[in-house]
Amino acid sequence: MNVHAIQTGSVRIKRAQVEGRGHGLRRRLAIFTDRSWTEWLPTYAWVIEHREGVIVVDTGQGAHLLETGSSLHPYVRWEVAFRIDREEEIGPQLRTLGIGSRDVKRVVLTHLHMDHDGGLEHFPRSEILVSPAELRTASGWKGRMRGYLPNRWPSWFDPVPLDLAAEPFGPFAASRRLTRTGDVVAVATPGHTADHVSILVQEEDITLFLAGDTSYNEELMLAGKVDGVSPDEHISGATLDAIRRLTRGSPTVYLPTHDPRSAVRLANRCLVGALGQGKGQLQSSALPSPQHPYRASGLAL
Ligand SMILES: [Zn+2]
Repeated sequence: MNVHAIQTGSVRIKRAQVEGRGHGLRRRLAIFTDRSWTEWLPTYAWVIEHREGVIVVDTGQGAHLLETGSSLHPYVRWEVAFRIDREEEIGPQLRTLGIGSRDVKRVVLTHLHMDHDGGLEHFPRSEILVSPAELRTASGWKGRMRGYLPNRWPSWFDPVPLDLAAEPFGPFAASRRLTRTGDVVAVATPGHTADHVSILVQEEDITLFLAGDTSYNEELMLAGKVDGVSPDEHISGATLDAIRRLTRGSPTVYLPTHDPRSAVRLANRCLVGALGQGKGQLQSSALPSPQHPYRASGLAL
């Protein structure tokens, strides 16, 4: 099994989105009054080369996101900005890895925000798995009112329901195996959206935690800091707590979509909370910054 991080362009959001300010409605409105932007943050998608077939987790940004400045939705129009070229979309990058769209058996989406479903058009022949409740939230004009872009989904988009069973997996209340061998599992991580899922990849004794937007980076997860868009901060806080419990119980590499260090942590198998040295035990803070312009140092987190 081989897991790749694919950077599909980058995004800038308000700092009050990365780390929520205040509580209740005030936390969610703070994005609109905050004038400070983050540095450009990467948007990663993940590719699992599994012997049962290639699995893609999230599809990243699409070049259509360069047009969000004309959106009628105030968040989409004013509070987020994207950078991406067509060749940075996931399809061309997979081809560079020697993976054609026919080779991708399954695509799993952690949630349907525009920087996670933006590359769907590259997978017309794959089975696409989405939480049915997330799909309902994102669909139609109500979805658009919530800041989703269902109007950008390909016409053939008709995902297979990713129904999680009430089967706990570690500290997570619901889960579903995505491979027969059980080494790739979807778990319920509600918070950032009500029906957000994360994907766990078991590699010998290490768990790769493909986190989606459970938090925007590892430090915020460790600190239990809820973002500025989660609909219910208590649910988000409980999920961050569950992730910390997982990482205390088993060696875990935590890989949020927008963490500038995710690709480096994956490459070095840097564990959450590890204090030793050597491969698989490096502290992520001891690592060199990734070789691209959006360095973690630019974020006051
Ligand atoms: Zn999101």
